[in-house]
Amino acid sequence: MTAKIIDGKAIAAQLRARVAAEVQRLATAHALIPGLAVVLVGENPASKTYVGAKSRAVVEAGMRPFDHHLPAATTEAELLALAGRLNADPAVNGILVQMPLPSQIDAARIINAIDPDKDVDGFHPLNAGRLATGLPGLVPCTPVGCIKLARSVHQSLAGLDALVIGRSNIVGKPLAQLLLAENATVTVAHSRTRDLPGLSRRADLVFAALGRPEFVRGDWIKPGATVIDVGINRIPDGAKSRLVGDVAFAEAAAVAGAITPVPGGVGPMTIACLLVNTLRAACMQAGLPAPEI
Ligand code: NAD
Repeated sequence: MTAKIIDGKAIAAQLRARVAAEVQRLATAHALIPGLAVVLVGENPASKTYVGAKSRAVVEAGMRPFDHHLPAATTEAELLALAGRLNADPAVNGILVQMPLPSQIDAARIINAIDPDKDVDGFHPLNAGRLATGLPGLVPCTPVGCIKLARSVHQSLAGLDALVIGRSNIVGKPLAQLLLAENATVTVAHSRTRDLPGLSRRADLVFAALGRPEFVRGDWIKPGATVIDVGINRIPDGAKSRLVGDVAFAEAAAVAGAITPVPGGVGPMTIACLLVNTLRAACMQAGLPAPEI
């Protein structure tokens, strides 16, 4: 079998177009222009790339960007003060602090300091709790993107055996919660899991989010399964380098029913879902119903 390649770029472009249309409608009907503050501390090259892509997407969607690039030596107190100012600024509907932060800053303290209603990353404990208990809130972007990609293949995920590899607060745990909400039967694997290949061979849906290049092999995939590869790993390639996922793509594509590429799979969806969250946050703050996108 040769897998269908799930085109995350195209699906994300459709989502972004729907967001842009909704932003226009809000501007016309309510004079509301959603604003997203993107905060980068330091000079991490990967973070700079992500932040640049996010800010460009915000502008393209017709939203207002508020970019803050702080020096690597920024103190926790300084960053907390900025978070406080952004929380209080009515033009800022969403706040994103790019991770990882320099070691002198406690990331958990920063996450806790962001107004949960502006927490477009969905990392605040209140939003994590809302997700876990089925209450409406802001949900982390990458897991939402993964679900949308899986739903582009399966009309319903109900009853499917889903394996999530990775249990981070950013990807694995919220993804497991979303899959439960979709009525999938969910297994969460992690670094202490025994017989990961065996678990994977039983899964109808495999979500790889462990951050290990090409770790998931083709013979771990059940024929016809859907594979969503969250990993972004830069590996050496001669004098240059290239991006690969957590799945050995060519091997897995020979067995799977559908698979996401890296790049061009989950990555573009993360940005598109960030725009959706910013739009939702702006609507919530204005007392308007959240658009169904
Ligand atoms: P993380 O390092 O916080 O967590 C990795 C998880 O994988 C841990 O829970 C760990 O227990 C598990 N793990 C590690 N080795 C394992 C093994 N050998 N077997 C089973 N489980 C193992 O990483 P993260 O922030 O969740 O990110 C995971 C990957 O997803 C990374 O490659 C990251 O770059 C990528 N990522 C991509 C996007 C995107 O937009 N596409 C967004 C976030 C993260």
